[in-house]
Amino acid sequence: MSAEEKVNLLGFSYPEMEAFCLEIGEKKFRAQQLLKWIHHHQVDDFEQMTDLGKALRTKLARLAEIRPPEVLHEGISRDGTRKWVFKVDGGGAVETVFIPDGRRGTLCVSSQVGCAVDCSFCSTGKQGFQRDLSSAEIIGQVWLASKAFGPRRNLGQHPVTNVVMMGMGEPLLNYDNVVRAMRIMKDDFGYGISKRRITLSTSGVVPMIDKLSDEMDVSLAISLHAPNDALRNELVPLNRKYPLEVLLASCKRYSESVPHRHKSITMEYVLLRGINDQIEHARQLVKLLRNTFPVKINLIPFNPFPHSGYERPAKPDVLAFHKYLNDNGLMTTIRTTRGDDIDAACGQLVGEVMDRTRRSERWQQSVFLRSHSPGDEVTSA
Ligand code: SAH
Ligand code: SF4
Repeated sequence: MSAEEKVNLLGFSYPEMEAFCLEIGEKKFRAQQLLKWIHHHQVDDFEQMTDLGKALRTKLARLAEIRPPEVLHEGISRDGTRKWVFKVDGGGAVETVFIPDGRRGTLCVSSQVGCAVDCSFCSTGKQGFQRDLSSAEIIGQVWLASKAFGPRRNLGQHPVTNVVMMGMGEPLLNYDNVVRAMRIMKDDFGYGISKRRITLSTSGVVPMIDKLSDEMDVSLAISLHAPNDALRNELVPLNRKYPLEVLLASCKRYSESVPHRHKSITMEYVLLRGINDQIEHARQLVKLLRNTFPVKINLIPFNPFPHSGYERPAKPDVLAFHKYLNDNGLMTTIRTTRGDDIDAACGQLVGEVMDRTRRSERWQQSVFLRSHSPGDEVTSA
């Protein structure tokens, strides 16, 4: 059997690993052993799985592999932010960013190569859609980041405490693979990350928000960016399909479907100078969101990139917008910049990052970090 035909176990959730074990004539409990070796210890060689017999190790090596994405480039920022650029099969690259913050370590994970939603202010959108990442390529980002910090048994604690699906791509347009990967993130035989500490950010794919609500419990962030349909149609073209009223109704259903979800949904709002950053927009936002469901606003001052056609607002305008929302009952935070010396930016990532010519333009990219109250998740864009 050639290497191409081997099945990659990296992207298998617990039930899938059990099914695989049964399929190859082994007992179900082998799944736990395999998952622990792969995700607790980041082992990719069956020979190192010492509690499996020699015959089983040989069989596994013949039929399967543990193949993470290939790292093309790695950067570490002065502030400890780390970035990896991964090669993906079929061409192109995606990025993953790790943001340390005290005892918290947040990993910003990509879900697609490019993105079809084509938001007007997003560099990922500008490159168009290339393809979905597989579950192995998605969880592989967590695997590689964890491996970079050494096995969990040596640290006593996992370095990745939080995951935000805020890298390249629209996660709800790659639903099955993203959910499979998030199951491994949550599973105790995977990374054991609590549902509160996994945040999925979406531009508003309404049917998939409802599906997610039925099938999985994670924190939800919505890329809102505008307080009315006319403006949102321009900034987030998906709004023409799922306008604000429809989107907010699905958020309400998500928020109410499980009692403990009464935790807030985060509304991300990129501030674009002269476009959506005026007090009038803040006023409309208050009207739109007050008395709906528990909500937090996260303001993201625009990250500029060449030929975007947009600018970041002046700081006093950002502060005035922030103050207006907070004064009018919407709990609002502003993301602060992280990792700008290594061009680490979730939410505005480009596939050609390894292209030295374009890199020489030194895009003014940065990672923004939002801190909530202690114990709450961090999101980055
Ligand atoms: N596709 C998903 C998740 C990835 S984008 C989504 O849109 O929600 C993560 C966040 O970064 C989103 O809120 C997105 O709107 C924001 N973002 C995209 N481009 C940006 C830019 N140039 N500056 C600041 N934030 C940006
Ligand atoms: Fe896609 Fe999100 Fe960028 Fe919009 S903001 S183009 S949905 S990655």
